[in-house]
Amino acid sequence: MSQKNYYDVLGVSKDAGADELKKAYRKLARKYHPDLNKDNPKEAEAKFKEINEAYETLSDANKRAQYDQFGHDAFTRAGQTGGFGGNGGGFGFQDFSQAGGFGGFGDIFESFFGGGQGRRNTGPVDGADLRYDLEITLEEAAFGADKEFSIVKEEVCPRCHGNGAEPGTTVATCPQCRGTGQEQVVRNTPFGQMVNVTTCSSCGGSGQKIDTPCHECHASGRVQKKRKLQVQIPPGVDTNSRIRLRDEGEPGTRGGRQGNLYVYIYVKPHQRFSRRGADLYCEEHISFPVAAMGGTTEVETLYGKVELKIPHGTPNGKVFRLAGQGLPALRGSGKGNLHVTIIVDVPRSLSDEQRTALTHYARLMGEEAVKEEAPSFFEKLKDTLKG
Ligand SMILES: [Zn+2]
Ligand SMILES: [Zn+2]
Repeated sequence: MSQKNYYDVLGVSKDAGADELKKAYRKLARKYHPDLNKDNPKEAEAKFKEINEAYETLSDANKRAQYDQFGHDAFTRAGQTGGFGGNGGGFGFQDFSQAGGFGGFGDIFESFFGGGQGRRNTGPVDGADLRYDLEITLEEAAFGADKEFSIVKEEVCPRCHGNGAEPGTTVATCPQCRGTGQEQVVRNTPFGQMVNVTTCSSCGGSGQKIDTPCHECHASGRVQKKRKLQVQIPPGVDTNSRIRLRDEGEPGTRGGRQGNLYVYIYVKPHQRFSRRGADLYCEEHISFPVAAMGGTTEVETLYGKVELKIPHGTPNGKVFRLAGQGLPALRGSGKGNLHVTIIVDVPRSLSDEQRTALTHYARLMGEEAVKEEAPSFFEKLKDTLKG
């Protein structure tokens, strides 16, 4: 059994006050946070766990008293058998690793220091953020657009304004918890009496007793409503661009703030253009004579038709860059480019006259592999059968 003492773990004296404890804990938790110790994750995690264990115990007046009275070994043994475990508080290392692991550093500290154990049930709770996936065309991504969409979301019940009671009836304080939303359960353990704080079983933590439930929301204080919303798509957005509609999420409870709605953009694939950032890519077909002798071809861009000069001797696969014919940059100014890949078309069938001309050309080129007998035996056979 470890001889380590929780006070030593946090580096504070036995008579340290709550503020001093918190300060010491914060400092160490930041220092040993696994996200900030990528070189040495195992050791940091163990240390981080230890710090959390120590703080969880010492920051709770009841647990601290037990700890002081019975000592470290007795305490940790009891903890392992479930006597004093950190299951009640929702504060332990286990809890937030289950809730999605180590995400943002800031988020974790929010959940550490934002709400204490008791306040969780009765304090303000922020409304949930919502997500809506919106499909748009490449043109809409290029030029921007105003889009309308509908979602079904939870709103404060308009009939009872969220308190859950039928208008005209009263909301009484819960008699079991006297409005605190919490119940204290006293248990006897080998180490004396333990007080466990749990959510009030009578009111579910709201601290209120409703005699006549609201007819519309059945006392929940919430209703599902279909809402039409508008979002302005700025030019230059891409798939996974996120637009925040402030306060369009779900309502908070007990004074918590309204959540936000996040519109996630999905840009549909385009028939002609593919995209990488602000740059666009397309193909342009030209004939062999144009590739060989040069000429012009009309290229369709997102913004209209543009004439592209093809220099003589342009090989298949050559890429021309049309500056500024891409998408606008989402931040800053300017536009991306359009990259046009040239495809030199090979004719799939030839007329007699074309064949003669090409044969002549082949001879001039000293091309020996060319098939001079034309049309082929099979083509002749086909013609015979047709005729
Ligand atoms: Zn209602
Ligand atoms: Zn209650």
